Formats: sequence, structure tokens, C-alpha cells
Amino acid sequence: MTKHKAGFIGIVGKPNVGKSTFSNALIGERLSIISPKAQTTRHRILGLINGDDYQLIISDTPGVIKPGYMLQEKMMGFVGEIYGDSDLIVAMVAMDDVDLPSDVLDKISSKKTPKILIINKCDLSKPDKIKMTIDTYNALGIFDHILAISALNGIDRASLIQLLLTYIPEHEPFYPKDQLTDRSERFFVEEMIREGIFHHFKQEIPYATQVEVIDFKEDEKIIRIMGTIFAERDSQKGILIGPKGDGIKRIGIAARKLCEDFFGKQIFLDLKVSVKKDWRTNEQLLTRFGYKNK
Ligand code: GDP
Ligand code: MG
Repeated sequence: MTKHKAGFIGIVGKPNVGKSTFSNALIGERLSIISPKAQTTRHRILGLINGDDYQLIISDTPGVIKPGYMLQEKMMGFVGEIYGDSDLIVAMVAMDDVDLPSDVLDKISSKKTPKILIINKCDLSKPDKIKMTIDTYNALGIFDHILAISALNGIDRASLIQLLLTYIPEHEPFYPKDQLTDRSERFFVEEMIREGIFHHFKQEIPYATQVEVIDFKEDEKIIRIMGTIFAERDSQKGILIGPKGDGIKRIGIAARKLCEDFFGKQIFLDLKVSVKKDWRTNEQLLTRFGYKNK
């Protein structure tokens, strides 16, 4: 009988290189929200890939930045967790942003943990430039494997899983084999509402916004959800609501569509906008919203 493999795989890299797009493609479910803006992902989100004789536990993480305020410090705390508990680290760069931050390089090269470099967004670049990037990283001599992909154009999921498995130890499953994630349905709804906000609003608004689902009731045919969008100031609340409620309506339509696809059910979504002054720098509110480091 073949032995069972199980392990944790942490994805790390700068904002916007496609970590969440890749993570979703690999897991085969849209667990992470995606937008063209930096810092869309704020949490470490676990997604499980379960096979007969393996369990891969993938961690998507926020993009590495120099934290400017407490929320960002917590986000970087989530990134830091993966250095400690991963069996395999996947560092990611993109062809339009080929540098790994030096602190990420330092952190991972000091670890014995196996490391793979994924060069994403190869659809944006010519083969010779991709080859140059591969050669440059090969010369560093710290990666066990280097792979060039385009997460947007589709990945060869089966062979990627085989590649990842070569670095994963024999171990019993860490989670029940029918489990897909460590997160609740409410969490994913909050994220999909946030995705609507990231797509429809500019500048500071997406970053100053937090979402909380306050009620989630599932019937046979429909899920009824009540949620609150928190802004930091009254002026932001006004912008989110918009003229004649246009803003909140657009968020609702986008989020409802995402939720219907995610749950495969009809969704009734009731959204309100409220203010929690300076929540991004308030430890207590950050903890309430789930930004608490281990
Ligand atoms: P993250 O911040 O690293 O999690 O990046 P996301 O997965 O949120 O993606 C950031 C942006 O890059 C989104 O607009 C994606 O559609 C885009 N993107 C992701 N992968 C690719 C790719 O392979 N090629 C191109 N051209 N764009 C991509
Ligand atoms: Mg992301």
C-alpha cells in the first residue's frame, strides 16, 4: 500500500503577482478574491487539495509590503506564519514584476524548507525574457525548482500537484478528507462583498473598508444574508452609498453574482453601510474583524 502524504504549502510574493489567481486555479475553487489592486488579500486562507493518498494544504497570503499601519502589520504577520509552518514554500514573481523583496529572499534562504519559484504572467512576455528570468533565479542557487506559468491562461493542475507532492513528507491527513478550507461560509461572503468594493471603487475606499456578515440563513432554495460594510469616516460612507444609493447597489449586484456562483444557490443580500472610525489602526476592532496574529 502506498503511504499517505500531507503537508502545508505557503505562497509568498509581492502584491499583484497572481498568488490568489494561482491558488484558486490549483485548488480548483475560487477561495481567494482577486482584483487588479494591491492588497486585495488580507488574510492567510487555507485551501485543501485532497487526493486518495495525499492532502495538500495551500496557504494564500497577502502580498509582501512594508507595513504602514496596524492592519498591514497584521497582514504581514499572516505572511510570517508560513515561514514557520510550511513543508514547502512557493515564492512567486510575475513577468511584469520579477523581483522578490530582499527580506523574502533572506527569510526563505535561511530555511531548510524546500522552495519552488513560480514565475507567473508569462503570457505578458517573450520566451527569451522568461528564460533570462529563470537563469537569474537559477544562479541564486536557493530554489529546488523553478517553474514559468500563466495562472490566467490555465495551469496543468495534475502535473503541478505531482510536482508539489515530491516535496511533501509522508503524513496522515491534517484535516478531514472532505474539508476544503479552514474558513466559514460567512468569511467567503465577506470576501466577495469586499471584492465588489475593490472592483467598483478607487483610491482609498477599498482599503478603508471592512465587511461583516451579521446574518446568514440557508433555506433549501435561497440563502438570505445580511451584511454591514464599515468605512472609516462619514465621507467614505457617503461615497460607498453613492448618489441615490447607486454605489451600494452596484456592490450588492456584484457580490450577489459572486455568491450565487460560489454557493450554487439563489442569494438574497441585504447590505448596510456604517462607520467604525479608524478601524485599521484599532487593535480591538482588528481582532473583531479577524486580523489577529498567532
Ligand atoms: P495577488 O495579489 O498576488 O494575489 O494577485 P491576484 O491573483 O489578485 O492577481 C492580480 C492581478 O493579476 C489580477 O488582475 C489578475 O487577473 C492578474 N493576473 C493573475 N495571473 C495572471 C497571469 O498569469 N497573467 C496576467 N496577464 N495577469 C494575471
Ligand atoms: Mg491575493
